[in-house]
Amino acid sequence: MRKIEAKSICKKFDDLEVLKSIDMTVDEGEVVAIIGPSGGGKSTFLRCLNKLETINGGTIIIDGETLVSTDENGNVRYADNSSRIACRMGMVFQQFNLFPHMTVLENLMEAPVHVQKRNPAEVQKEAEALLEKVGLLEKRDQYPLRLSGGQQQRVAIARALCMKPDIMLFDEPTSSLDPELTGEVLKTMRNLAEDHMTMVVVTHEMGFAREVATKVLFMADGYIQEQGVPEEIFGNPKNERLKSFLKSIL
Ligand code: ADP
Ligand code: MG
Repeated sequence: MRKIEAKSICKKFDDLEVLKSIDMTVDEGEVVAIIGPSGGGKSTFLRCLNKLETINGGTIIIDGETLVSTDENGNVRYADNSSRIACRMGMVFQQFNLFPHMTVLENLMEAPVHVQKRNPAEVQKEAEALLEKVGLLEKRDQYPLRLSGGQQQRVAIARALCMKPDIMLFDEPTSSLDPELTGEVLKTMRNLAEDHMTMVVVTHEMGFAREVATKVLFMADGYIQEQGVPEEIFGNPKNERLKSFLKSIL
């Protein structure tokens, strides 16, 4: 089953063409890693997928439903239910973006109860189960700033999961963590992948991309320059830009 289909995505900020024509497909249970130089448009692309940014051209289909499409005259049209479609994707950011004035448990319950209007008692049960899963149940009544960066990011992951997304988007989830704290977050993401969650992960963690991703996309200069299974991308890169990128980071 195809979960995401993005075709010919264009995005400009004024005169700056950040995404020139991006294509990506993601099937159910796939883990797609997006790598590439800073400023290449990776974050912008993720934000376009879940409508945090609007596109200037192209088509995005989520779970068979058209979120946005562009006609032959270049008119971009978002579906009337585009916000609901976008909500099927949970997102985790580089900066954890937890609500500082709410406890861990309240952070998880906020959107399911107040946005999705679900039953609080049920949500609380699920929230506690998710906290247990990320190993932080004993922190349920703490405030986020009392936690380490790695713990905060695991709470952010649990919070996104509490919305019952069927796709998870991660934007450099370990980039603002001290090196000794990245492992626990990557482990949480690995577990999620083993549970067959469909994931798109922008990352500089090449070990993670190599071992967990089913497909790696190299994005630079507004295009996907090369894509393939990790063994191909890391073991036998063809694109010159990709070769020099890999040299610069490995
Ligand atoms: P990456 O995540 O690959 O580092 P970004 O998507 O953050 O790249 O940025 C791509 C380009 O778009 C950069 O040149 C950045 O300055 C620009 N950009 C990103 N967001 C905005 C914005 N809201 N307004 C103007 N320019 C932006
Ligand atoms: Mg970025």
